[in-house]
Amino acid sequence: MQFQIASIKGDGIGPEIVGEAQKVLKKVGEKFHHDFQFTEILMGGASIDVYGMPLTDETIETAKHSDAVLMGSIGGDTTTSPWYQLEPKLRPEAGLLRLRKELNLFANLRPAVLYEVLADACPLKKEIAEQGFDMMIMRELTGGLYFGERRTIEENGIKKAIDTLTYDENEIRRIAVKGFEIAMKRKKKVTSVDKANVLDSSRLWRSVVADVAKDYPEVQLENMLVDNCAMQLVKDPSQFDVILTENMFGDILSDEASMVTGSIGMLASASLNDTKFGLYEPSHGSAPDIAGKNLANPIATILSAAMMLRYSFDLDQEADAIEKAVKDVLDEGFRTGDIMSEGSKQVGTKEMGSLITERI
Ligand code: NAD
Repeated sequence: MQFQIASIKGDGIGPEIVGEAQKVLKKVGEKFHHDFQFTEILMGGASIDVYGMPLTDETIETAKHSDAVLMGSIGGDTTTSPWYQLEPKLRPEAGLLRLRKELNLFANLRPAVLYEVLADACPLKKEIAEQGFDMMIMRELTGGLYFGERRTIEENGIKKAIDTLTYDENEIRRIAVKGFEIAMKRKKKVTSVDKANVLDSSRLWRSVVADVAKDYPEVQLENMLVDNCAMQLVKDPSQFDVILTENMFGDILSDEASMVTGSIGMLASASLNDTKFGLYEPSHGSAPDIAGKNLANPIATILSAAMMLRYSFDLDQEADAIEKAVKDVLDEGFRTGDIMSEGSKQVGTKEMGSLITERI
């Protein structure tokens, strides 16, 4: 099959890590007889340098007409880069925010996986880390408190700030459907996280999720309060498969879940709309401190490419092949600098990409 992929290499380490992910995808294409076509588009600082703005209308159109977008990371050193002297709407990050909005990406997926051989990097107690974990945090990205009405007023000389948390049932339903669909491709368990003992929006969330669950009888649904979930993530992370939650809870829990893996260079992510389309990128930034030095870990981007195959192209076997190749390379003791430990073999960005490619 043929797939059109819009590729945003971005800034800093972006071109290096996307280059390695493309190398892996080309090998997958050869082995499984697919034709992955890449169209390079500019966003962030790289686009500012050429067009004077972080995202052009033409770039948005190219992204919209592709099957998926594979991205590195954007942005530069926020204290020294001239991009940050520009007004906020012309800075690199403004491009990404606009692209997410234009593509209607309402579902954010962040897997948090602890690889057995990297368990030493996990900040949790040894007996907890030894259990391993493999979960997917699914966060609603375009509603809730961050998008509600807000204002600051003064009443009788006292300042008062008001933020509004709003969800309608359609917004909840579409993310819940995504959550159950993803769970069907995994261990078939959804933990829906809310604060239903206090918030009306959470009570609506819980009832809509329960309704959606009826269409997925194979998936086990449990409800968990957000405060309990924050505790369980450090106490017993192995219990989770898909964590489904609203915007602000997801913001906090996904950072907590990624921190317990202990390795930023390994964390993939995806943002999806209500079709099969998605934007796939590592969770980390553009790491300007190590850009161009062949030091960056390309695995987060390579695993993001695997997510693209699984969730946008329905190529589960091919995604499995990438994930297995990553695991094999780690099991053989190869590491980039960020995940290096005593007794392992340190390799650069390119070598890591090649090792994974060879094992597809
Ligand atoms: P960062 O994630 O880029 O870097 C934090 C630290 O982690 C650095 O020491 C870096 O060297 C290291 N690191 C990150 N990715 C790595 C990898 N793949 N391999 C090895 N080490 C890695 O965060 P930051 O320094 O706060 O931000 C740098 C720039 O990235 C900023 O301009 C920020 O706005 C941007 N940013 C972009 C995105 C995105 O594109 N979605 C996300 C976060 C930050």
